[in-house]
Amino acid sequence: MSRSGPARSGPEPVGVGALGRISHDLRVTGSPTPGLEELRLHDTRTRQVRRFVPLAPPKVGIYSCGPTVYAPQHLGNMRSQLFPDLLRRVLMAAGYDVTYVTNITDVGHLVADRDDTDDKMELAAAESGKSAAEIADLYTEQWADDRRRLGCLEPDIRPKAASHIAEQIAMVEALEAQRHTYLIDDGVYFDVATFPRYAEFAHLDLDGLATRGRVEHIEAKRHPADFALWKLTPPGVERQQEWDSPWGRGFPGWHIECSAMATKYLGDRFDIHTGGIDHVHPHHTNEVAQSECVLDVHPWVGTWLHNEFLDLGGEKISKSAGHVLTVDSLVERGIDPLAFRYFFLQAHYRQQQAFSFEAVEAAGTALRRVIGHAVAARDAGGTPDPAKVEPHRRRFWSALADDLNAPQALAAVWEAVRAADLAPADVWAFLADADRALGFGLIEAKAPDADQSGSDPRIDTLVAERQAARDRKDFATADRIRDELAAEGIELVDTATGPSWSRR
Ligand SMILES: [Zn+2]
Repeated sequence: MSRSGPARSGPEPVGVGALGRISHDLRVTGSPTPGLEELRLHDTRTRQVRRFVPLAPPKVGIYSCGPTVYAPQHLGNMRSQLFPDLLRRVLMAAGYDVTYVTNITDVGHLVADRDDTDDKMELAAAESGKSAAEIADLYTEQWADDRRRLGCLEPDIRPKAASHIAEQIAMVEALEAQRHTYLIDDGVYFDVATFPRYAEFAHLDLDGLATRGRVEHIEAKRHPADFALWKLTPPGVERQQEWDSPWGRGFPGWHIECSAMATKYLGDRFDIHTGGIDHVHPHHTNEVAQSECVLDVHPWVGTWLHNEFLDLGGEKISKSAGHVLTVDSLVERGIDPLAFRYFFLQAHYRQQQAFSFEAVEAAGTALRRVIGHAVAARDAGGTPDPAKVEPHRRRFWSALADDLNAPQALAAVWEAVRAADLAPADVWAFLADADRALGFGLIEAKAPDADQSGSDPRIDTLVAERQAARDRKDFATADRIRDELAAEGIELVDTATGPSWSRR
């Protein structure tokens, strides 16, 4: 495969929060950021938290699997956008020149990630009466807008699968020439038996897969793990999206698009690939197999990062589970989308996070408090004392350097705004710097509406629950509630007349 340099297009990245348009020049970091001298990330392939070392510093290439644009993206999908946005911001703050690529899947992604079901785009087109291209445009723009409302930086490159058919055919041809494929009526398949490392990436039990029988109704597949590289349009069928190929009219399999586009824009090997945890197998396992065969490289990607699900009562939030929760669902309830960003930062990306509107509303309250502190400190003016700010910066950034420990970084934010020894100018210096990762748009933020400190029934209830737990000597529960309140910026004071609370 030919290696081509990153083709930057469009303006420089711009972060846009709900609070207004904000220019972020995160590439210019000046002096090194304290705490980010060494970055440690959890790599899925090796199952280890390892020191991050780029292939060709200061450049870092990141590829994130993007949306299949047949429907609005639910909030679980958006967690897979917020997580690499945080990663990218931390790398930029560490001084790296990051190229961020995320793809648009507008063809080839079959229902339930299988080879024997229908293409999600064709199904959506048939159901809506719109063309597949119209649907792709509609939901691509909605996804891009949702990202902006969540404070994500614009991708440097966002290639579309249907615009990279030639690259995908070329990769399948190369795999065929290397005898990694076989042709059946259904299409061209990758033969996993030709890639001995196939099971390594996801720790798969291939023999178990083989003996458990075939769940897919493609009888000619040699092994259940074999996967489609090029699907042939059956005789008599006409698809909206199909192309000529050396094997006949058809369309690319889902996995090949990411191998082809990542390689085109980031080179034969690159630093970081991200995706949701559900992509480890089959999608990323298959990307690795194709890419390492055709490019003759290992490892193809330096670090693989996967985020856990957003959880709704034990069920992952997805369209198939009957819950279509989107950024618009938040707005309809009067919740600032950036509250969801704050909520995302309250859990580590490798932990499942339980979703509820109440939890996101609470995150919104905490966010307004942060913004209130930021605006007051910013407008107070004055000159910061770097020696006083430095330890707080170090605490904040070293939390993120430790495999993106965002909850700990948020704790460092609250410590700084409460620190008795910091003047307003110091607090503002800290927050303006931290916002490079937080992405709340503090530089141009307006003062939030005055809130009703001391008259919040939900907080009053939690405080009462904590007091009841203390009374029955259930100190574990009492401490848990106090910690939860602290994470919202609420401070409890036990007085002789009972507990009182205040927002800080
Ligand atoms: Zn992908």
